Amino acid sequence: MSSDQQVAIVTGGSRGIGRAIATELAGRGDAVCVNYNARPAPAEALVEELNAKGASAIAVRADVADPAEAENLVAEAEARLGPPTVLVNNAGVSVPATLETYDEAALDLMRRVNVNGVINMTRAVMDGMRERGYGRIVNVASNAAIGTALPGTTFYAATKAEALILTKRFAMELGRAGVTVNAVCPGWIVTDMTRGTMTEAEFAERVSGMRDRTMVGRVGAPADIAAAVAFLSSPAAGFTTAQVLTVDGGRLDYIGHA
Ligand code: NAP
Repeated sequence: MSSDQQVAIVTGGSRGIGRAIATELAGRGDAVCVNYNARPAPAEALVEELNAKGASAIAVRADVADPAEAENLVAEAEARLGPPTVLVNNAGVSVPATLETYDEAALDLMRRVNVNGVINMTRAVMDGMRERGYGRIVNVASNAAIGTALPGTTFYAATKAEALILTKRFAMELGRAGVTVNAVCPGWIVTDMTRGTMTEAEFAERVSGMRDRTMVGRVGAPADIAAAVAFLSSPAAGFTTAQVLTVDGGRLDYIGHA
C-alpha cells in the first residue's frame, strides 16, 4: 500500500449499489474491504475480480447491526489493508409495508441495519480517523427519506430519514478532526432490492413506471450512485460535509420538497 492510498470499507459491498461503489473505489486505487452479511459467494467473486485487475481487495463478513461485529470488521480491514480512511455505510434492508400491513419486527430489522448499522460502523472507525486527522464517511440513505411517494416505503423511509439526521450530527461531531460525513440519496436503482420477488413482466412494468417519474427519463444504475460516492469520499471533498446529495434523475413525485 502506498502512503497516500486510501483504505475503504464498503458495507454491503457485495451486491447492487455497494458492489458498484467498491468497484469504483478500487478502480481509482483505493484498497477496498467488501463487507457482506449472509451471502459470501458474491463478495468473494467480486474480490477475485478486483484483485485480478490489480486492486487490493478483501471480503469480510459482518452484520453491521451488531456493534461487536462492526468493531471486528474495522479491525480486520485495518490488519489486512491498513487504517481505514473511507467508510461507506451502504448496507441496507427494505421491507415494504403500509399502515395496513405494518409489522413491528420488519421495522425493527430495518432500524437495526439502516440506522444502528450507521451508528455502529461510524463509532468503530471514529477513534482511528480522529487520531489520524482524516476520514471520509458517506452514508447511502434514500430519496424516500426526503419525500418521494412510492407506496409501501413508509417505514423504510423513516429509517432513512434517521440516517440523514445522523449524517448531519456526526458531521458536526467529527468535522474538527478532519472527518467529513455526507449522505447520498439514491432514487430508484435497478438492484436485487428493487427487483424483489417480481416476475420479469411485473419488473418491466415497474421500470417503465419509475422511468416516467424522472426528469431525465430513465431509471438509475448502481454506477450512478458510485460516481457520487467517489466524489464525497475523495481527499478533494474536504470542505464538503453534512450534505445530502440526491441522485435520482430528478424525481417528480415528491410529497414535499427538500
Ligand atoms: P441489495 O441489492 O439488496 O444489497 C444489499 C447489500 O447489503 C448486500 O451486499 C447485503 O449482503 C448487504 N447487507 C444487508 N444486510 C446487511 C447487514 N446486516 N450487515 C452487512 N451487510 C448487509 O441493496 P441495494 O439496492 O444495492 O441497496 C444498497 C443501499 O442503497 C441500501 O442502503 C438501500 O437502502 C439503499 N437504496 C437503494 C435504492 C434502490 O433503488 N436500490 C434506492 C435508495 C436507497 P448479503 O447479501 O450478504 O446479506
